[in-house]
Amino acid sequence: MDVTVDSQARRGIDLHSHSTASDGRLTPTQLVEAAAEAGVGMLALTDHDTLDGLAEARQASLACGITLLSGVEISVRWQQRTLHVVGLDIDVQAMALCEGLARLQEQRRQRAAVIAAKLQRLGLADALKRASIQAGGGQITRTHFARLLVEDGICKTLQQAFKQYLASGKQAYAAAQWVPMDEAIRWIVDAGGCAVLAHPLRYRLGSGARARLLEDFREADGCALEVCCGSSRDADVVLCAAEAGRHQLLGSIGSDFHGPEQRWLRLGGTPPLPTSVTPVWTRFDVR
Ligand code: AMP
Ligand code: MN
Ligand code: MN
Ligand code: MN
Repeated sequence: MDVTVDSQARRGIDLHSHSTASDGRLTPTQLVEAAAEAGVGMLALTDHDTLDGLAEARQASLACGITLLSGVEISVRWQQRTLHVVGLDIDVQAMALCEGLARLQEQRRQRAAVIAAKLQRLGLADALKRASIQAGGGQITRTHFARLLVEDGICKTLQQAFKQYLASGKQAYAAAQWVPMDEAIRWIVDAGGCAVLAHPLRYRLGSGARARLLEDFREADGCALEVCCGSSRDADVVLCAAEAGRHQLLGSIGSDFHGPEQRWLRLGGTPPLPTSVTPVWTRFDVR
């Protein structure tokens, strides 16, 4: 019986999304309401390096009868690269996780000042002040600077802003001291959660490097691979499902929704998880 596809189709599951606590456009309440409206029955809010949106999201989830998982998307480093590890179903009070995220938030503050100074020299006025206002007390991300570049007509699209200024090695890029991948996984596991390697095909790794990454991830107690993302094509899903099987990882699905302006993305709008993959949500006791 096709239980996996069935349960996903019936309830709608989306385990990767953002709110105004980081670089999402919707407040946690608006996000939860939009997810419920889109037919999502189980949502994880996974803001970048912060748990700040979760309390509000939980309140909203009670009002609209959606199952909310406490989540986070942690910026990690692995072999000089920046990767993203999503933590799902975490205890938001867990000390190592909270202390670790506080350090990453300090990294974000310092990096934002460096990026802003670079952009200011390149002609973006009041970069730090405007990014801070736009972030509204949430984490400042490169997305905020990209939006300012578009707002001022310096770039046409967010993609162009990254390609020209903000991507690694470009003029306004600034590195941050993210946390080693195995340490971030430890925070998540010690907080009772599952660690998921987010959007595994976005890192532009060759198959050898990807195999090493997945071995290290599994070795460090990583639990699942994000097999289906909002932007996944069929071939991507097939490849990731095979990788999950090969490395004994469960499978997760998440749109990585940031807001309605991503018109090609919907909450809950990923392909279904192939039935060959064991869903990460079999590990949650929230159903
Ligand atoms: P940060 O964690 O502050 O370095 O910012 C990373 C965020 O920037 C990601 O989570 C995406 O939301 C966004 N991002 C990265 N690359 C691109 C891109 N090429 N186009 C649009 N958004 C991007
Ligand atoms: Mn983002
Ligand atoms: Mn990400
Ligand atoms: Mn994300």
